[in-house]
Amino acid sequence: MTTVAAYAAPVTKALLERTTIERREVGAHDVLIDIKFAGICHSDIHQAREGWGEAIFPMVPGHEIAGVVSEVGSGVTRFRVGDRVGVGCMVDSCRTCDNCEADLEQYCLNGATMTYNGIGRDGRPTYGGYAQKIVVDENYVVRVPDGLALDEAAPLLCAGITTYSPLRHWNAGPGRKVAVVGLGGLGHMAVKIAHAMGAEVTVLSQSLRKKDDGLKLGADHYYATADPATFERLGGTFDLIVSTVSAPLDLDAYLSLLRTDGALVNVGAPEEPVSLDLFSVIGGRRTLAGSSIGGIRETQEMLDFCAEHGIGAEIELIGAAEIDEAYERVLNSDVRYRFVIDTATI
Ligand code: NAP
Ligand code: ZN
Ligand code: ZN
Repeated sequence: MTTVAAYAAPVTKALLERTTIERREVGAHDVLIDIKFAGICHSDIHQAREGWGEAIFPMVPGHEIAGVVSEVGSGVTRFRVGDRVGVGCMVDSCRTCDNCEADLEQYCLNGATMTYNGIGRDGRPTYGGYAQKIVVDENYVVRVPDGLALDEAAPLLCAGITTYSPLRHWNAGPGRKVAVVGLGGLGHMAVKIAHAMGAEVTVLSQSLRKKDDGLKLGADHYYATADPATFERLGGTFDLIVSTVSAPLDLDAYLSLLRTDGALVNVGAPEEPVSLDLFSVIGGRRTLAGSSIGGIRETQEMLDFCAEHGIGAEIELIGAAEIDEAYERVLNSDVRYRFVIDTATI
């Protein structure tokens, strides 16, 4: 066991405080990573406050991890000391079910092991990236390409892959009209990635406050959803809508913006259930779907795509003492566009 400095929520809804945690010994197939940067995802807040249900405490959140390999186990073949690497939302899965075999470990039929707020295959709670080091099986570690700065790469490990995966699956590309709902951490990555894929991108944000940013990030159009005229104007427009909104959405209103055969894909994960009028999908043969992060192979593909297109996250680098303040700003939709913790400050 190695003792590691970390930031944890001791109990639900508590402020985060400095603590220490134990990491397992580096096994034959493990790598030890010196974490340099950890992004703050809205999912960290949902879980630290038990918005999605009962959670495991103390909780060390963080599943947007970028760092450098500092030790490798005897059987490790894919990484060497000094490699720049990332870890996202999962650190293990069963490896034998149909989904694991199809590189869809995030949908592991036996349950993927989440990076934190999970129970590892060794029966011990998992602790995430708001810490100085982590030990992870090499099969759940990805390589950060040379062209990407580590701090701007960290958010790609969740915000990047969570938006890249549905954009690929639902064929964002030239000739396709894609709307992104919510311009926060996930939303700003969705805009950059969809633009790089060649789609015509529209941002649907609560207000026009961030319009200049949205257009700079690659959006072609930008509308305020608080304005009812937006829904009248855009009815039947989009092939694909990706909602990154963390609160319940008026599904009927957004479904009405889809063309025939269009899809509304929710990656935002609100704490309460939502309802809809089924005529919203019956008319126009529309699809309502969801999507969860991405597999390990696809996460590597996303990082390579981002490096090729010069895409990193827009970040605000903070010290560990500022995490609670950052949480409040995320909750107030006041993030431009991802907080990233410099773990040297832990
Ligand atoms: P975020 O940075 O807070 O962004 C969410 C954005 O949604 C806000 O910036 C805001 O954009 C909009 N929004 C917030 N409250 C709203 C409301 N009441 N009505 C309308 N719009 C609202 O959060 P994030 O880190 O991107 O995460 C977004 C959601 O995705 C969270 O629920 C998170 O848990 C979930 N998530 C899911 C996955 C997955 O695998 N499916 C992975 C990661 C995160 P505007 O200011 O532009 O309106
Ligand atoms: Zn996340
Ligand atoms: Zn599996």
